Amino acid sequence: MNAALPVPVEAASPHVMNTYGRLPLALSHGQGCRVWDVNGKAYLDALGGIAVNTLGHNHPRLVPALQEQISRLIHTSNYYHIPLQEALAAKLVELSGMTNVFFCSTGLEANEAALKLARKFGHDKGIERAEIVVYDKAFHGRSIATLSATGNAKVQAGFGPLVEGFIRVPLNDVQALKKATAGNPNVVAVFLEAIQGEGGVNPVDVDYLRALRKLCDEQDWLLMIDEVQCGMGRTGKWFAHQWAGILPDVMPLAKGLGSGVPIGAVVAGPKAAKIFAPGNHGSTFGGNPLAMRAGVETIRIMEEDGLLANAVKVGDHLKAALQRELGSQPGLKEIRGRGLMLGVELTVPCSELVGRAAEKGLLISVTADSVIRMVPSLIMTTVEADEVVSILAPLVKQLIKEKA
Ligand SMILES: *Cc1c(COP(=O)(O)O)cnc(C)c1O
Repeated sequence: MNAALPVPVEAASPHVMNTYGRLPLALSHGQGCRVWDVNGKAYLDALGGIAVNTLGHNHPRLVPALQEQISRLIHTSNYYHIPLQEALAAKLVELSGMTNVFFCSTGLEANEAALKLARKFGHDKGIERAEIVVYDKAFHGRSIATLSATGNAKVQAGFGPLVEGFIRVPLNDVQALKKATAGNPNVVAVFLEAIQGEGGVNPVDVDYLRALRKLCDEQDWLLMIDEVQCGMGRTGKWFAHQWAGILPDVMPLAKGLGSGVPIGAVVAGPKAAKIFAPGNHGSTFGGNPLAMRAGVETIRIMEEDGLLANAVKVGDHLKAALQRELGSQPGLKEIRGRGLMLGVELTVPCSELVGRAAEKGLLISVTADSVIRMVPSLIMTTVEADEVVSILAPLVKQLIKEKA
């Protein structure tokens, strides 16, 4: 994508398995929303490690806390009590209004645990072949079960047979859901992202979420909301479903929870909190002291620095600036999302923009072929948001002109 770099992309990491289409650049260090590559070139980071670097890079309070934790204790086993697990669980319970937490290390692992909870919830009430409602364009991870739940043929291609027991429906359509599940006694759960991330930054209507809560109560299904990408303050509430004023029964978390230290969590409400007993589930790395400290400090700093309010302020500013620069542009389909989870959908595929933006010193991603996605650190300023637009808008206009 970047002809200026002498090393061919494939040759840059000849021993690393070829699972990502990588840009021909390597980053060396970062500060706030800025990162520098090994040649000293600076980039404004509007991707935040894909919604992971909640506090930006080299945060002045996170880094010393992690250093202190590393010198004290990195890992023990879940055979012992880990006080930091209890500290982070108590905080997540307080913020979510739910009751208990299981810790793991990634998003797919959190979703895998959620799927196991749903199946055992069914088994415990005599349903042997549990079925779970999932959605078009959903993304839940790349393990065999979570890619089966994912609504993207490219993610599934080559990995069959898929896990059975999923019923797929379109987003935001209550009638379609009722029709797809009518008279089926095996349904145990509805599983969805509050804002689809990889599927193209597609928000779920708050009315639809409320209707799901009602239906799940009536039918005794679990409402499982994947907040791996849209959670942890990104939309201006701790969890994106809170805009609908509802409570899920199961909520997987990961990405932004540890500001870059690998971490995952499944938060459960009363209906799901007592399903697992010793022996049902586990994770060697899950809940280790380093990851737990990262979670505790991330939330502490978010609260101290008002980062939820900042996500709303800077997100609104960024969205308005994008709208102003690109809103009336032919080839622009829609600008959508909430807080600092924004998507700009074009009428044409636009993956070239990733490399072109990097050349101009801006990191973004393109998902679902034609959606420019921005999920920066929650510490981003309005000045930086303006800089994002000043780099991105001309590139978008140029691309649309080329493809017209
Ligand atoms: C990224 C993502 C996952 C998968 O997380 P990993 O840590 O990559 O396994 C699952 N669900 C959603 C909504 C995601 O955005």
